[in-house]
Order: sequence, then structure tokens, then C-alpha cells
Amino acid sequence: AKLIEVNHLKKNYGNTEVLKDISAEVDQGQVICIIGPSGAGKSTFLRCLNVLEKPNSGQILFDGQNLVSLKDGKELDQLREKIGMVFQNFNLFSNMNVIENIKLAPMKVKGVSDKDAESEALSLLSKVGLKDHAQQYPASLSGGQQQRVAIARALAMHPEVMLFDEPTSALDPEMVGEVLTTMKDLAKSGMTMVVVTHEMAFAREVADQIWFMADGYLQEKGVPEEFFDHP
Ligand code: ADP
Ligand code: ADP
Repeated sequence: AKLIEVNHLKKNYGNTEVLKDISAEVDQGQVICIIGPSGAGKSTFLRCLNVLEKPNSGQILFDGQNLVSLKDGKELDQLREKIGMVFQNFNLFSNMNVIENIKLAPMKVKGVSDKDAESEALSLLSKVGLKDHAQQYPASLSGGQQQRVAIARALAMHPEVMLFDEPTSALDPEMVGEVLTTMKDLAKSGMTMVVVTHEMAFAREVADQIWFMADGYLQEKGVPEEFFDHP
């Protein structure tokens, strides 16, 4: 089933057209990897999908509702809760320990009880291999560990899709593998994922579709074999 449908999306910054005419679809359970050169508009596109940026025109249908035309308010907030996002720089709350970071949104936004949020957070931490780190503060963790906490935090809201914006680009090379492994597990669990990445081996192995973005357009879409096995 179709989860996201993007129609003729355009985004300008001043006179600069950053997204020029983007149309695409994401099915439930699909993993999409977006690749392409720096400055192509990949990050801007993800930020539009997560309503961090307002497009100038076009549609983003999520579960059939148009994120672009919805006014700020409860309906939009509830849709945004279904869209998890993981950033390049983790964006954890540095004044909270790991478990507090994960519990915060479910308790505050969804009214989940402390007890339920706690047990869910512990189960997510064990899923990302960090169950012994619940009481630590982000600054005492490696970059790879922080990014896995960020993934657990996003999952705590039970999103319908997870967006990743270059999740391994800020990591030391030895940390990249552990984050990609967590993402692979998530993909195997059936999560719908849209991943902006430069990790071609990951894209080749995990993506159902690869979208190549350049100069504000999705220039090419296809299965990994089409991208990587050209003669
Ligand atoms: P990518 O993720 O593919 O590297 P971005 O979406 O980050 O590309 O950026 C695309 C273009 O939009 C770049 O030229 C960038 O400088 C510009 N851009 C991104 N964000 C802003 C902004 N807030 N204001 C002005 N220009 C921006
Ligand atoms: P990325 O690493 O995703 O390509 P950038 O380093 O281009 O991101 O941008 C970092 C932040 O700066 C983003 O919030 C982006 O929107 C903003 N930004 C990027 N380019 C510009 C620009 N030319 N003018 C204003 N803000 C920008």
C-alpha cells in the first residue's frame, strides 16, 4: 500500500530553486535510499517530508492527507508524530540521560505513563544494543552509541516511517558499521525508511529502491541492480 505520495514538490530559498519538481511514491515497508551530490537538495527534501520546511508548491500525501496544505494545529501534529527523523548530528538532549531522552516525547506528547514509557524505552535500548547505558548522558557515549539512542528515541513514538538524513556522516569510521547494522535490523523488521546516505554498500544491500537526486530533481529511480550493475 502507498504510504507517501509526493506530487510536483517545489522549494525555493529566496530566488534559489532547491527542489524543482519532485514526484515520487513510497510504499509501506519499503526502504528508499536517496543518493546524489552535495547541494542536490536531499536534506531539504527530507525536511519537507517531515514538515520542518514548508514547500512553495506541490503535494505531500501522507496516509492520504496533504502535509503541505494542512495548517499548523492538532491534525498536523498528529501526522508528524507518525514520521520519525534521525539527523546527522544526533540532536539528543544533552541535559538528559539516555532513558530520559527516549521517554520524553511519548510521555509529553502521547501521555504515556512513566512506567510504560520506561519499559518501552528499555526494550528499545536492548534492540539497539544499549541496554546497559540507560543512565548515561549523551556526552559520555560514542557517536555511534548516540546515534543508536537517537534511533531508539524516534522509534519510541511508533512512527509509520523513519527518515534518516546522512545518519553516519558525522561518525568516526569505526562507528559507522554499528549504526548501519541497527538500520538493517529495522529494515528487516518491516519499517518504512527513507535514507539519505553516501553509504553505497548499504544502499545496494538494503534499499528496495534508489533515488538519485541532482540539481533539485530526482533524476533516476530504480532498484539497486540498475544503479550498481551497469556494465
Ligand atoms: P544536500 O542535502 O543534497 O547536500 P541541501 O538540501 O542541504 O542539499 O541543500 C540544497 C541547496 O539548498 C544548497 O545549495 C544549500 O546551500 C541550499 N540551502 C539549504 N538550506 C537552505 C536555507 N535554509 N537557506 C538557503 N539555502 C539553503
Ligand atoms: P547538509 O549537511 O544536510 O547538506 P548544510 O550543512 O548544507 O546541511 O546545512 C546546514 C544547515 O544550514 C541547514 O539547516 C540548512 O538548511 C542551512 N543552510 C544550508 N545552506 C544554507 C544557505 N545557503 N543559507 C542559509 N542556510 C543554509
